[in-house]
Parts: sequence; C-alpha cells; structure tokens
Amino acid sequence: MRRPIIAGNWKLNKTPHEAILLVDELKRELVDVTGVDVLVCPPFVDLSEVSDALVDHDIALGAQNVFWEDSGAFTGEISAPMLKDLGVAYVIIGHSERRQYFHETNETVNKRLRAVLKHGLTPIVCVGENLSQRESNKTFDVIKDHCEGSLSGLSVEEMKKAVLAYEPVWAIGTGKTAAPQQAQEVHVFIRQLLGKIFDADTADSVRIQYGGSVTPDNIVLLMAQPDIDGALVGGASLKAPSFSAIVKGAKK
Ligand code: PEP
Repeated sequence: MRRPIIAGNWKLNKTPHEAILLVDELKRELVDVTGVDVLVCPPFVDLSEVSDALVDHDIALGAQNVFWEDSGAFTGEISAPMLKDLGVAYVIIGHSERRQYFHETNETVNKRLRAVLKHGLTPIVCVGENLSQRESNKTFDVIKDHCEGSLSGLSVEEMKKAVLAYEPVWAIGTGKTAAPQQAQEVHVFIRQLLGKIFDADTADSVRIQYGGSVTPDNIVLLMAQPDIDGALVGGASLKAPSFSAIVKGAKK
C-alpha cells in the first residue's frame, strides 16, 4: 500500500514573512490529519524560517531545485548538503518550468537526482508532455524519454527512495486538469516502464504524484485512481484553506 503524498510547490511566491503566515495557518488546519505525507516547497530564501516554524510538526520541508555539486565556485547555486542542514527532506527536480525556462535537460535532472540521493534527501522527479506533444500523440514517447533519461543509472534501492510526479505541461497553472482516467493511463504507463527498467517490486512501491491544476474539487476523483498516489500542487498550495482541503481529500 503506497502512502499518499501531497506537496505544495510555491514557485516564486511568498516572502519569508508571508511564508510564516501561510505555514502557521497550515499547521492549524492540518493538526489532526494523519495517513498522508504532506510537504511544502517554498523558495530558497524562505527555507530557514519555514524550517524553524515546522519543528515538531508533521509537515515536511521541500526545496524547488538543487545544484549537483556539494560546494565550489558555482555562484548563485544551492547544494544538497546546504538544504539538508536546513532540515529540508525533499527536493523537486526537473519541473517543467525549469525545463522550459532554465535549460533543464534529462542529463542535468539526472545529476541533481544523484546529488539528492547521495545526501539522503527524497527527490520528486517531474516528467510530462506539453500540449503539442499530446496533440501529436507523442505523450508516451516523451514520458519514456523523460523517465529513461532522468532515472538513468539508478539502482533499485535508489529508485525506491524516489517519488515521481506526472505533470502534463498543458495542465499546469491553466485550470485544465487531466481527466482522472487520462492521468491514470499515464501513471500505469510509468509504472510499467519502471517495471522494465528496474523490477516489478520497485514499480509497485514507487509513489507517482499527479500535478496540473489540482484543486479541492478534483482531488478526490484523481486519488480514486489506483495508480495516482498523491499530488504536486502549485496555485492551490498558496492558500491554507485550499491546500488543506486537498490534503484532506487525498486520504485513500
Ligand atoms: C506545479 O507547479 O507543479 C503545478 C502543478 O501547478 P498548478 O497546480 O498551479 O497547475
């Protein structure tokens, strides 16, 4: 049985002051929630204060990106040991916005992934097709390419520690959610692929989140799909009532 996992990706939103207000509200709203792994992924500059605010609370902390080297002359970058020292437990890797605007490739995703695993953090690896790829029936080709490229060289043990997120780019921030059936179809494809690259046990145990305009209104039907194990939430994670409603709706 895979435990549901809901992650809030705040993207480029919330100053440290605003972040604390949101986290305090979330702590109140989610105080009695059990059976779901919950994490928030604020911008880097918020991590220290949010980490302090989450001490002794079940909400975990995630980062939105990481560099692959531990230290050195890489101006502007942040490393896995730095994140770990702040209490970060998860790192989103290969988000489509990073692929689209910041030249992220399968190769750089793979380097980040290895760095995250080396330092005992949990990666959330994003894969997903854009609209023209879907419309030209290339969805499965793109997913295969993203999975094979991003996960290249991982051992079974390493893969079992990772989380995947299927995020159709056309559904991110657009209000157009993939139909639950449509998402399930891709999740099954990813699981079968994991079976081929790794083994059946790994395929069965890895959690695969869906991401793309998830709201309190669609989370229950999405989570009712057997291969959807959680959600990566953007816009709706920026307000405590909508994010906590999604968390509560995610209990299988
Ligand atoms: C995301 O940021 O990964 C995302 C899915 O955003 P949204 O929920 O706003 O579509």
